[in-house]
Amino acid sequence: PLNVGIVGLPNVGKSTIFNALTSAKAQAANYPFCTIDPNVGVVPVPDARMNKIVSMVKPNSIVPTTMEFVDIAGIVEGASKGEGLGNQFLSHIRQTDAILHVVRCFADPEVIHVAGGVNPLSDIDVINTELLLADLDTVEKRAVKSEKAAKSQSATAAQKSEWSAIQKLREALNAGKPARTVDLEDDEKLIARDLFLITAKPMLYVANVDESALSTGNDWTAAVEKRAAEENSEVVRICGQMEADIAELPADERAEFLAEMGLEEPGLDRLIHAAYRLLGLYTYFTSGVQEVRAWTIKKGTKAPGAAGVIHSDFERGFIKADCYHCEDLFKYGSEQAVKEKGLLRSEGKEYVVKDGDILFFKFNV
Ligand code: GDP
Repeated sequence: PLNVGIVGLPNVGKSTIFNALTSAKAQAANYPFCTIDPNVGVVPVPDARMNKIVSMVKPNSIVPTTMEFVDIAGIVEGASKGEGLGNQFLSHIRQTDAILHVVRCFADPEVIHVAGGVNPLSDIDVINTELLLADLDTVEKRAVKSEKAAKSQSATAAQKSEWSAIQKLREALNAGKPARTVDLEDDEKLIARDLFLITAKPMLYVANVDESALSTGNDWTAAVEKRAAEENSEVVRICGQMEADIAELPADERAEFLAEMGLEEPGLDRLIHAAYRLLGLYTYFTSGVQEVRAWTIKKGTKAPGAAGVIHSDFERGFIKADCYHCEDLFKYGSEQAVKEKGLLRSEGKEYVVKDGDILFFKFNV
């Protein structure tokens, strides 16, 4: 599955949030939850539509789709120069698909702040600076060879575009701008991907607040929201401590607790959904009495590619997909009724799968 790295200064609540995310097992009671590594957790993606399909189809088994979260501890000022766990942390974060940047927006005198006081904007700058410096280091290392190759007589088009990408990236990083903001040509993008730049990954901020500021926000969250808006990033406000408490509750008490708090869903669900959106992901379903299952695809995936998520043979032998949308199922009450309304279609290789489609693949083996 796609994975999301959780970063932030020490004591901002990363582990609290990570543990809450990975311990909320009851959300998918019969899904074999697994922890790959103490810092890596596979988390089922909550999906109200899936619950509705399940309540109508009553399958023998239910399999949600998942996302992986990685708790990346150890980033401190100087990490890019090898301070703390510097290099180790950087190599972990290079392998993630997206970044959640946790920012402390709670006071709590009991919890030491590494920089002496709560100041989310300066915390954000410390982390972002380390990430920029790490990327700059990567780019500089490549620059020497790249320039030489691009300027030689026998330079290929690929070598020339590599050098042009490197120059654009270097200029942006030097000016304190993340690689994701750099406008690159398609061939240059390939090079950027090849460099595994951290600041090229999509990122969202998580403002960790006390319970009292959860619905109203506070001056700190306002500052983070303003900064995020300038960067075109999203902010999710959650109370890590409360999420940890909610995750410990049995499923039936959880709903009651949320209702008492006036909340529709746990903050973690909002967080997982925001990460899913950040990655540009869609969910489609396969549905039958044996199993109802959710699958993740990238937005824009065509039917054969969606089949390939299940098995590469399905993609290779793809013939067609019978398809209807889950909203039509909810509207008309059964698959039979959807059929009678003429809403069950047969789609071919060029069909772009929609979020919430229910698909049945026909394929040659
Ligand atoms: P990390 O170093 O970023 O992983 O931070 P931790 O998750 O270990 O949290 C540091 C401390 O802050 C712990 O004592 C947590 O209990 C506390 N903490 C985490 N989230 C919250 C919160 O939302 N409110 C308050 N008051 N404390 C929190």
